[in-house]
Amino acid sequence: MAALIEMKTPLVEIDGDEMTRVLWALIKEKLILPRVNLKTEYYDLGLLNRDATDDRVTSDAAKAIARVGVGVKCATITSNAARKAEYKLKTLYPSPNATIRAILDGTVFRKPIQAAGIKPSVSTWKKPIVIGRHAYGDVYKNAEMIIPGSGKVELVYTPAGGGGEQRILVADMKGAGIVQGMHNLDDSIQSFARSCFRYALDEKLPVWFAAKDTISKTYDGRFKEIFKETYEHEFKEKCRAAGIDYFYTLIDDAVARVVKGEGGFLWACKNYDGDVMSDMIASASGSLAMMTSVLVSPSGVTEYEAAHGTVQQHYYRWQKGEKTSTNPVALIFAWSGALAKRGELDGLKDLTAFAKGLEEATLGAIAEGEMTGDLARLATGKPAKILDSWEFVDAIAKRL
Ligand code: NAP
Ligand code: MG
Repeated sequence: MAALIEMKTPLVEIDGDEMTRVLWALIKEKLILPRVNLKTEYYDLGLLNRDATDDRVTSDAAKAIARVGVGVKCATITSNAARKAEYKLKTLYPSPNATIRAILDGTVFRKPIQAAGIKPSVSTWKKPIVIGRHAYGDVYKNAEMIIPGSGKVELVYTPAGGGGEQRILVADMKGAGIVQGMHNLDDSIQSFARSCFRYALDEKLPVWFAAKDTISKTYDGRFKEIFKETYEHEFKEKCRAAGIDYFYTLIDDAVARVVKGEGGFLWACKNYDGDVMSDMIASASGSLAMMTSVLVSPSGVTEYEAAHGTVQQHYYRWQKGEKTSTNPVALIFAWSGALAKRGELDGLKDLTAFAKGLEEATLGAIAEGEMTGDLARLATGKPAKILDSWEFVDAIAKRL
């Protein structure tokens, strides 16, 4: 048995719920602990512990990530009325991901994991398309009104310190209708742009940003301007040195290019575009279980997780004794992403190499036809052998 790989600084480890909590323990036991003398600061975000701590554990975990620099997170239940009854909760809690994202002021990047023999629905895609979604403002923080009949609708700005009010006409309504007002903040757009360029530098990916500034000259125009300024003033030289570029185009042109292109870039999206396009990319890339998610703060703090949820239905079957064929790949890649980042920050080459080896062993098993049921349905290579999660993890461990 080779010596264990040592770590310098801990990772923040965030445990979660249901089937992903079961797989979390399995991945650690079979794939990581036999090789790495794992150092983590552990936070249990399982729903019962969030309830027991009045959700303090969630903000504690987020602050720990900000302090330590790197985190890895299991999927967690977002409570609702049904969960409140199921877990006998004191109250409903906000989504843990929303709490963590707000504390880290982070941007979420979703990246599909490509495996040999699993073809994306868009046949031209050879490399993953990563989506970065701005998660503040626009239609998600709008004000809407039903207009009962004809009359004037205006936008009014009243400066906080007093002074000249600004007002413009939205519409002189000729009858009943609807109206909507929305906003964004320069600071939020700039944080988003910074997180995008940081992630792109880390992953050596070109950055695309698209909006509709030909129609929305002021609103979308401001997004375009801030991205350009942030790139020019803070990232241009670093991007040039890394051999990556920044490309702005209209959103409709971007969509057309995405479908015809071969992938391999970061697509920075406004809030609504990111909401819609991330689901399009996820479903066109294959399985939700093959999508990773990284939260990056403007200062470069990162948190890695799987994009899928707790796989609730599989959990109920597992509780009844079934060995489910739940796909652990995105969870494994969350661990490998976090370990690789820790290795890079701490200058631990063997830790980074281990993380890469873990990914190769996982993709290797799939390429050789050993996979979970969700992937077997998509496989185009030789006939796949459907394994349960435990057999699949063993198949990976054997290759490590
Ligand atoms: P989900 O857990 O993503 O699962 C939805 C369906 O997708 C599953 O029933 C399964 O389909 C398939 N699937 C997802 N991950 C899979 C995997 N690893 N292997 C195989 N199949 C997989 O979404 P949900 O059931 O809507 O949500 C369950 C809970 O997760 C909710 O309480 C929600 O709040 C939470 N959630 C958490 C996060 C997060 O923490 N990041 C994200 C989303 C949802 P089949 O049943 O057809 O096999
Ligand atoms: Mg969506």
